[in-house]
Amino acid sequence: MKPVDLILTHGNVLTMNEKLDVIADGAVAIASGCIQEVGLTQYVVSRYAATETISCQGKYILPGLVNAHTHIPMSLLRGLADDLKLDVWLIGYIMPIEREFVDPAFCQLGATLACAEMIRGGITCFGDMYYFESDVAEAVAQTGMRAVLAETILKFPAPDAESYVHSLAYTRDFILRWRSHPRITPAIAPHAPYSTTDEIMALCRDLALEFEVPIFTHLAETPAEVEESQRNFGHSVIRRVAENGLLDAPTVAAHCVAIDEGEMLLMKQKGASVAHNPSANTKISSGIAPIASLLEMGVNVALGTDGPASNNDLDMFEEMRLATFLAKTSTGDPTQLPAWQVLQMATSNGAKALGLGDICGSLEIGKRADLIVIDSRQLHNFPHYTQSNPLAVYSQLVYAVKSSDVLHSLVDGQWLMRDRELLTIDEGQLYQESQEYADRIGEFLSNRETDVLRKLVAISMGMERGETYEVQIKVPIADPWIVEELFDQEDVHILRSVHYRQYDVYFHFEDANAGMVRYREDDRIGANDEVTSVRSRLTYTNPMSERSILGSVILSHSRFYSLADRPLRFYREYFHDAQETELIKERRRWHIQFREVPFFVHVDRVSQPQLDGHFLEIKSRTWSAEDADAKAHMILEMLGVLEIDPANIIPLDYIDFPDVDQPGGLSSSST
Ligand SMILES: [Zn+2]
Repeated sequence: MKPVDLILTHGNVLTMNEKLDVIADGAVAIASGCIQEVGLTQYVVSRYAATETISCQGKYILPGLVNAHTHIPMSLLRGLADDLKLDVWLIGYIMPIEREFVDPAFCQLGATLACAEMIRGGITCFGDMYYFESDVAEAVAQTGMRAVLAETILKFPAPDAESYVHSLAYTRDFILRWRSHPRITPAIAPHAPYSTTDEIMALCRDLALEFEVPIFTHLAETPAEVEESQRNFGHSVIRRVAENGLLDAPTVAAHCVAIDEGEMLLMKQKGASVAHNPSANTKISSGIAPIASLLEMGVNVALGTDGPASNNDLDMFEEMRLATFLAKTSTGDPTQLPAWQVLQMATSNGAKALGLGDICGSLEIGKRADLIVIDSRQLHNFPHYTQSNPLAVYSQLVYAVKSSDVLHSLVDGQWLMRDRELLTIDEGQLYQESQEYADRIGEFLSNRETDVLRKLVAISMGMERGETYEVQIKVPIADPWIVEELFDQEDVHILRSVHYRQYDVYFHFEDANAGMVRYREDDRIGANDEVTSVRSRLTYTNPMSERSILGSVILSHSRFYSLADRPLRFYREYFHDAQETELIKERRRWHIQFREVPFFVHVDRVSQPQLDGHFLEIKSRTWSAEDADAKAHMILEMLGVLEIDPANIIPLDYIDFPDVDQPGGLSSSST
């Protein structure tokens, strides 16, 4: 009799090996963290003498589940913001919060909270991509789980790096520090093609090949992402990464929702794996990944929960069930993605994707003892047809079993959970510490939500934060070419002139003191009335910004500018404005110097709201009350040249003009 540490006997053993052997009265013998034997109980107990033998009568013994794609520290952001579109959720909420709160302590706590949940749900191994992965690794090592942990690389500053150069340096150190750990594989995660560059992706690939570690990334998550890639790079997302060489390193691509057959073939040829995340995809309605076709094509497809802020849990039983239901409903064919195949995705395919195919993912002699025991005697699991239907065990596991039925969990032969008690994590502490974070983040968010400027700053990376001050006047003019008289003056020089068509949408808020946000699209018009370029900007105007000098010239200030790289819809959903006003005008703009002092001269024709005639605006930037006063005098002088009576000055913005369609009201529409 050979000595072993542990034998689990009399269980229904799902090996998830190539042949999908199921052993009805089976046993697994474990020694030194390794599987020594898998077979009939009678056979195993006759050959091995164990320090401990545990009967698993009425239970399933199977390999621990592999969560191939997640972002575990985000467990602390669970429930922070939901029921939003991807860009509003990510750029409006998650990224600003991450910049503010994500640090080593956040990552360690979030990782531990997530590991506790995953162990309870039968997950023994996972692939993570986040920041401060060295700290994530510390926490995961403590829990006893197995993981591939990938440091995220972005083209923008990240919570743990000023630039991608720093991220790559961090990743190299991280790999060197963790690569000999028995349960942790360090890896590299260029976040996605849209959030990196071809150069960053190539550098990531080189690093992955140098250290023989995997690449994790997000590919083709939505049809919109593919369209944008086509527009900007002349290639779909997957063709772009096949071309730029990213897929030359072993890659796990999360999502692949918008993928065509040619791209599936590319993925197969490159040996890349797909991590399917059905909950995250359906929650933000990205679409349904064509899993059945990918599998048929021979692509290795694994299953993931994605991050707990976008799912919102880490439950692979839910993912398995949803994955197969979606495959069936999207193809109209209930034979697609049968239960056995989806369990394969959640076990052996997952291990293979993470580069751990020889280590875990199935119960086979020589593999590490990463396994779970599931209680099949719960009410919702009765009765059993396992005698008459060999596939019934898979149906049971995928369609009926709940994650709370997982009784025991072992990794490397070490107990992580026994009789549903966690042995490596202090659960009580997690409740308190994670709630403390939620309280702090919640307070930060509720303060921000009532401050329009802070909301704008949160999403505007390249914002001009400085305040600007302007003196300006506006007068109606009958003849737009009257300005030529001004330009004919000896002390006036034209520096530049340009013709715009401007589409403005003003966001007004419930609280009139909250300020106003303007979204402006500037279409530059060429000599033949063609649009030569388009630029969008956001401007925040402080409500307390205006006062009158010289009776009619206005000094406005506190304007903050930022490029608007998102569609109008994004800002509308993000700012929750109470009301909107639209302003459309043709603007001819001259940048002039009047006695060496710079001014802007505008001749506007406003079509929305419909205002008759033309308007002349003269304005200049200013820095002090004294300077503003001097410039106001100069503006009045220019009006004098044009023989315009200052009494005609209208101290109103166009949007504040009385509406011709709605007498007495403003031209505004409710959103
Ligand atoms: Zn993800």
